[in-house]
Amino acid sequence: MQETLSKRPWRRRLAVLFALLLLLLLLGLSLAWLDRPLDAQAIAVAAGLPEIPAQLPPARPPAGLDFRVIETSQSRGTLEALILGGGSWLRLRQPVHMAVWVRHPRASFLFDLGLGAGVDQQFAVNHLFHRLVFGYGPVRPAAAQLAAIGAPRPDFALVSHLHWDHVSGLPDFPGLPLWVPAAERAEAEAGAAPYFLRSQFQGHQAWRELRFEGGPYLGFPAHQDLFGDGSAVLVPLDGHTAGQIGLFLTLPSGARYLFSGDVSWTLEGIARPADRSWLARHLLHLDHDEARNQATLVQLHRLMRAHPGLQIVPAHDETLLPRLPRLTAPTRP
Ligand SMILES: [Zn+2]
Repeated sequence: MQETLSKRPWRRRLAVLFALLLLLLLLGLSLAWLDRPLDAQAIAVAAGLPEIPAQLPPARPPAGLDFRVIETSQSRGTLEALILGGGSWLRLRQPVHMAVWVRHPRASFLFDLGLGAGVDQQFAVNHLFHRLVFGYGPVRPAAAQLAAIGAPRPDFALVSHLHWDHVSGLPDFPGLPLWVPAAERAEAEAGAAPYFLRSQFQGHQAWRELRFEGGPYLGFPAHQDLFGDGSAVLVPLDGHTAGQIGLFLTLPSGARYLFSGDVSWTLEGIARPADRSWLARHLLHLDHDEARNQATLVQLHRLMRAHPGLQIVPAHDETLLPRLPRLTAPTRP
């Protein structure tokens, strides 16, 4: 009797431990299933995605066309599994907030503006939860970095979309013409924190409406050739927001890039293809139209497979920075 009583607490503890392990296993299996790769074939058929042409469109990039990535800030850090479905629970990621500075002989422009000098004030309207989730580290605004190297002011700006982390730097360039599709501007003006922060753009005077005047381009339904030489071409990548856009750049070297905004936060997401994690999508409601964004993601995946030489650059993938020309050397320790 004495012996039986003394053994019971151990049995109970073992049973509780076993139940906890089982629960963890079930949770892990459920998340793995929810975050499984997308069925590219089924999504392509359901969305009626056109085939990716085998030939890259012609481009005549002029001498002197180049670009630099400007790192304006980095996220405070997150587990990869939260930003990428099927990503690692052990790997820490620090998504970057990049602006891209393009110099063409006919004009220079920014594609995305990153975090700007006023971001702390802009961001303060968020609730604590969103301030924690979207927290960022030290900020080096694109305007300050360009001024520091004596660069002339860009002629105009484009943004992949009008979410806070892409347009925060706009007030640092008063009066800079900003080209945005009408659907994107309408969504932003009706939008709210944490994604659309009106203080960033409501006072802006120099809006320009971006229209896609060209036909299908590399599997996308329309395009806009910025300089008429095929070197800088915009395409619609809607889904994450109503009017998200991507920028194809072809350099004189023949190197080709596609800056793909936030269709995926990581290149790995396009390669798999996998959406952001189920947890992130359900806690944060990140997309204007999630199914549409997944179709756009699948089209990027097919593009990557058809043209492996094309470097796709998601706006926040910090692992790509070493492969890209940057404005300044990173100051991270
Ligand atoms: Zn973003």
